[in-house]
Amino acid sequence: MIEVPREDILTHLDRKIFKLISEIADEMGLRCYLIGGYVRDFFLYRPSKDIDVVAVGQGIDLAKAVSDKLGKKSRISVFKNFGTAQIKYKEYEIEFVGARKESYRLDSRKPIVEDGTLEDDQKRRDFTINAMAFCLNKDRFGELLDPFNGMQDLEDLIIRTPLDPDITFSDDPLRMMRAIRFATQLGFDIYPDTFDAIKRNNERIGIVSMERVVDELNKIILSPKPSVGFILLEKTGILDVIFPELTALKGAETKDGVGHKDNFYHTLTVLDNISRQTDNLWLRWAAILHDIAKPATKRWDPKLGWTFHNHNYIGEKMVPKIFRRLKLPQNEKMKYVQKMVSLHMRPMQLVEEEVTDSAVRRLLFDAGDGIDDLMTLCEADITSKNPEKVRRFLNNFKIVRRKLQEIEEKDRVRNFQPPIDGNEIMEIFGLPQCREIGLLKSTIKEAILEGEIPNEREAAFRFMLEKAEELGLKVKN
Ligand code: ATP
Repeated sequence: MIEVPREDILTHLDRKIFKLISEIADEMGLRCYLIGGYVRDFFLYRPSKDIDVVAVGQGIDLAKAVSDKLGKKSRISVFKNFGTAQIKYKEYEIEFVGARKESYRLDSRKPIVEDGTLEDDQKRRDFTINAMAFCLNKDRFGELLDPFNGMQDLEDLIIRTPLDPDITFSDDPLRMMRAIRFATQLGFDIYPDTFDAIKRNNERIGIVSMERVVDELNKIILSPKPSVGFILLEKTGILDVIFPELTALKGAETKDGVGHKDNFYHTLTVLDNISRQTDNLWLRWAAILHDIAKPATKRWDPKLGWTFHNHNYIGEKMVPKIFRRLKLPQNEKMKYVQKMVSLHMRPMQLVEEEVTDSAVRRLLFDAGDGIDDLMTLCEADITSKNPEKVRRFLNNFKIVRRKLQEIEEKDRVRNFQPPIDGNEIMEIFGLPQCREIGLLKSTIKEAILEGEIPNEREAAFRFMLEKAEELGLKVKN
């Protein structure tokens, strides 16, 4: 069992803020404890700025007294309905709550909440490692209260519920996601009993608000190796409830001796690969969704074998629906993910066909500022087990990257705005918005991307006049 010398705990707690809470709680005659994630993270050497304090009695009163004492440097927010208060002080966020006992009834999601003892409060916590507390009162300052043996589970790297897991999960099904999230973030295993209970209760995740579910999902995605979490979500059956489009990628069919890869595990490998390169949540989401339309587009062609034609475009179209259901943002972040999904085949096609200047220019134009992220995604998408193949693909992408840079320096088409815009064309020919104007506009853009004319105003102007004449348009006097 981990033995942390008491002096180490006392040294850690020897901070003005803890001493102050201790003194004030003693003055008010309240028992008060540090609890939850902060205590867990202390033992895991993960420095934390989120501090949870539980008082046996009124948490809000204690918070107010502490905030008064801290003076102007602190800001307090009181949430009367929840019986909690939060103080922001320096780099800390300190949450105060009164110890509570929660009883749930089967017919209601809302618990009956009553004042309780410390142990009542520890029982309503999600996991043994999150239920440990340090006493802050002077007489027992720094004493660890660990009724469910969380220390042992910390040492064994185990996620386990303090009570019968069926009760803990039925009371708040989000805890099933939290179990998987902590297992993924911390590299812990879920205790077999706890794991089996998640399997039994998986359907109940459906009664939790999507915002809370996705909050946990995003934390899994932002972990160092997100595949761990997705595999647990899949094995427990949770993934099927919250994200069926992803489980639909599972499986590898074989016909006439020709198989295709299992796109679920491929996607997870791409996600892990990209997670080694970036903390960008949305690029990680793009990795999750890049092949999402493969099941919908899968066909067997006797000559070509398995095909997934247009899975990138169909995937791009699936993104808004998935984002809406998962309550993910419907803004430029979603558009960015759509762009990545839509373009993820392009660099590879470019290598397979020919790295011509115009193809590179088109890719730059279409990807815009997303070009570097797109290349990162494509590199992460190489999951072949054949090292020779991997080396060849990576090398090809290096050539593409070099060419992209060369062309961008020369032609500046990355955030390309044609040198003559639609309004100007309408003005020149004295025309309203019409088919011919649209045609002229796109012909100029195409000519620049194809490299027929340089990306310059004078050349574009001359070209426009030529094309206008072909269309029978006359310059307004
Ligand atoms: P992180 O900061 O990484 O999210 P944390 O453990 O601090 O981890 P919080 O969500 O801040 O997570 O919760 C603080 C504490 O509150 C937890 O350690 C746990 O004791 C308790 N807790 C939070 N959510 C739940 C829940 N759904 N059910 C039971 N206890 C919970």
